[in-house]
Amino acid sequence: MSKSLRIPPSLTRYQLVNARVPTSMSALGGARSDEDGLAPASLLIENGRIAAIKAGAVAIEAATPLFDLDGGIVLPTFTDVHTHLDKGHIWPRRRNPDGSFASALLACRTDRENWNAADLRARMRFGLECAYAHGTSALRTHIDSMSPQTAITWPIFAELRDAWRGRIALQASPLFAIELALDDAHFDEIRLAVREFKALVGAVTYMSAALEPALERLFRLAEETGSDLDFHVDETNDPESCSLEAIADMAIMRRFQGKILCAHCCSLALQPEEYAKRVIEKVARAGIAIVSLPMCNLYLQDRDVKAERTPRWRGVTAVHELKRAGVPVMVASDNTRDPFYAYGDLDMLEVFREATRILHFDHPAADWLKTVTETSAAIMGMEEKPSLRPGAVADLVAFKARSFTELFARPQNDRTVIRAGNAIMAEPPDHRELDGLVAGE
Ligand SMILES: [Zn+2]
Repeated sequence: MSKSLRIPPSLTRYQLVNARVPTSMSALGGARSDEDGLAPASLLIENGRIAAIKAGAVAIEAATPLFDLDGGIVLPTFTDVHTHLDKGHIWPRRRNPDGSFASALLACRTDRENWNAADLRARMRFGLECAYAHGTSALRTHIDSMSPQTAITWPIFAELRDAWRGRIALQASPLFAIELALDDAHFDEIRLAVREFKALVGAVTYMSAALEPALERLFRLAEETGSDLDFHVDETNDPESCSLEAIADMAIMRRFQGKILCAHCCSLALQPEEYAKRVIEKVARAGIAIVSLPMCNLYLQDRDVKAERTPRWRGVTAVHELKRAGVPVMVASDNTRDPFYAYGDLDMLEVFREATRILHFDHPAADWLKTVTETSAAIMGMEEKPSLRPGAVADLVAFKARSFTELFARPQNDRTVIRAGNAIMAEPPDHRELDGLVAGE
């Protein structure tokens, strides 16, 4: 589908007039926002940056070329803070036979024999091209890190991080079962990835006798290397899964200075109210941020593999309660077309639309847009945070939709992504490009 906005590449100074922007993310002094938190505004773009933003639907300068958006929404570009580029798009050759979490784990473990440099490079690049075309400018991926995969994937990640600099800022965190942190040979490999490839420090946490000593080792590694922490936490419907509390306790006890992001935390939503409240307070005190993965959770959680029972639970964590307690909350893509999630395209508008439906980010819409932009960019420690404020890089996504009811009603495939003031022409790549690579057996 063609882009809604055509801005000639030679134009270095122009105006986007008669737009609607989220007031929570722009310095619009005194502008009254509607029920969706949007207000009319015009932007002046100069040499790749936002030179000015003014409330109202009229031009800022009379003589400067302008594009009338006719009330269309303009957002800063998206940050996708939790993905799995290395698993992406293996579905055609490695389906999930019953849609369960256990089958997903097994299928990915089996498929890893195919993950050589060429296979990884092609699939990870495909994912990045999708994300870029949809308007994502920063992305964090988890990387399956167990021998011998660790030594194969991390150099490819580093290569792509260099190649994509300026288009998508990339970070990565190692992914492995928490017990492995106590295995010296494994831990040495992780330490190498942290030192050599600037990996974050992370693992998958659940209840295990190894949880505390393993966490201690990972916290110490993060402290020694000045790294941030990123964990997959309690991705289960079992209310006995309480590893989030263990991470919060450890962070408080050690007075950990870096950033900590915990993903999933599904069991928190099913734990007794009093306990969950106490954990949420600890999470807030520890300065931990939480990312929910609503599409993947909806797919995997509460699935009866014999299909004798319709799912009753949406699978997501207690995002509203966390936010109310002052915990930074965000949502992200997670898996794409792999055994953990059969669908997905690294489209953060889709994530936000589905989050709005699954997590009730609506009525009122409040400032939930930050969960896919500002808050995620902050946890990634981005120097240039996507923003609509004067001086910010003009990294924008412009839609024809004028309100959230229009925005969420359609996929918005005609959105225009603007990067450093230039409208990009990129389209998501054709799935056929991967045919030779991931053909089914
Ligand atoms: Zn994940």
